[in-house]
Amino acid sequence: MIFTFLKRRRRDRLRARSFPAAWKSILNRNLPIFRRLPSSDQSELLGHVQVLLAEKHFEGCGGLELTDEIRVTIAAQACLLLLHRETDYYPELTSILVYPSAYIAHEDRYLGDNIWEQGDEGRLGHTGRRMGSLVLAWDEVKRGAADPADGRNLVLHEFAHQLDFEDSRTDGAPPLSTGAEYLAWARVMSREFEALRKADETGTPSLLDSYGATNPAEFFAVATEAFFERPRAMRAKQPALYAQLAAFYRQDPASYSAEAAR
Ligand SMILES: [Zn+2]
Repeated sequence: MIFTFLKRRRRDRLRARSFPAAWKSILNRNLPIFRRLPSSDQSELLGHVQVLLAEKHFEGCGGLELTDEIRVTIAAQACLLLLHRETDYYPELTSILVYPSAYIAHEDRYLGDNIWEQGDEGRLGHTGRRMGSLVLAWDEVKRGAADPADGRNLVLHEFAHQLDFEDSRTDGAPPLSTGAEYLAWARVMSREFEALRKADETGTPSLLDSYGATNPAEFFAVATEAFFERPRAMRAKQPALYAQLAAFYRQDPASYSAEAAR
């Protein structure tokens, strides 16, 4: 298709642009994980950042004035999930809305039996299928980036949901190539999800945040955070989960993780 061809050519040009030095120093300052990446990954990441910043609309909300620091810090973390694969740069996503800190979301929640609850909920970030947007609290973005080994990262979490949206269902599975891959994914993920639910019910400490026990979609997002931030612990304690995520992300964060220093 001509459209695909043009899009590809435009992205090639964006990736080849030289990366502004000021942006690079933002990354070195705000994103310790960036400095630990293999240098070929660093350059691939910078290329992806150019594409993402050119294609997505960023908007400051709640009085937040957008800066390059905000845009670049968010984009670089989002692009960490795209390395080493063919990517269409989060095709379901148009806008990234950034609040200064936790914001109030007005939400109707379905409780079952035709009962809806309306409530205001304080949130740090969220996204949804067909929302076309992703919302983030800037102070939490910065906190998540600043500690690359605490297992918590808001941007990785919300963008993992976007990967999940790329195939037809929100089921905690990103798009995979073959039926066999889906089967292997489902086998490992459902076992690990059940284990986290059990740990949550019995109050047993676990590597993954218990929020991942909410449903398979949250499990994938929470597991993605831990995969990049606690890879050595995950590889040691949950090797099947680590292997599954390493195969999908085509990365081995255990090899450059900051965990050892802790
Ligand atoms: Zn989530």
